[in-house]
Amino acid sequence: MAERQKLYEGKAKILYATEDPAVLVTYFKDDATAFNAQKRGSIANKGRINNAVSTHLFKLLEAQGIPTHWIESPNEREMLVKPVTIVPLEVVVRNVAAGSLCRQTGLALGTPLTPSLVEFYYKNDDLGDPLLTCDRIRAMGIASDETVGQLQQLALQINQLLTSFFNGCNITLVDFKLEFGTLTDGTLVLADEISPDTCRLWNQNETDEARRVMDKDRFRQDLGDVESGYQQVLDRILAHTN
Ligand code: UDP
Repeated sequence: MAERQKLYEGKAKILYATEDPAVLVTYFKDDATAFNAQKRGSIANKGRINNAVSTHLFKLLEAQGIPTHWIESPNEREMLVKPVTIVPLEVVVRNVAAGSLCRQTGLALGTPLTPSLVEFYYKNDDLGDPLLTCDRIRAMGIASDETVGQLQQLALQINQLLTSFFNGCNITLVDFKLEFGTLTDGTLVLADEISPDTCRLWNQNETDEARRVMDKDRFRQDLGDVESGYQQVLDRILAHTN
């Protein structure tokens, strides 16, 4: 078999070309980074779990009319996706205060946020992914006001669908990060992944602040049992889906 052409290698995934220009392969790695790659490590089985979680969530969203880059997941580590031009924004939705929101505003961890917050960060490691404003996005020429409005609306729709799905799994969707891209015809679609790497997920059956964490905060904060936190998210999703 011909060696696949590697198009891009990121912190958690590798993107390969295929013989079909309309199809790319995303390979999910076990590598983990945090704090703008200052902390590095590996989480056993993470690639397999994140591929499975993302696959389930992309399918769920597609079924509810949200366009995504997902085509199919042919094996445990890989997802076939449509090629997109990534919008260089990280779209973060927050339902409960955690992470940088608490650090930057003094809001207490766990404060419910109603209505939910939609925030835009500039996808730029050299600048440390800074928080943007709509005016800054316009000034930087990243996206039009119309696109920003579309992103906000899509992010809130996705939040409603995912919040309700995770509630059915006894998991609180605290916050999460989305990335979007445009297809060759200009259609905006959800891209990247949705997984315990990119979401904060709290086990509703646990009240203890450390024990309830099922996501990458277990790695960021050295809480231990990282793999089992991720695996439990997948187990609950599969149990809920079947
Ligand atoms: N997030 C992400 N990639 C990033 C930054 C954030 O997936 O580069 C996710 C993170 O896992 C969390 C949400 O976006 O679910 C909000 O992250 P926050 O701004 O609180 O950043 P952190 O506290 O992780 O630095």
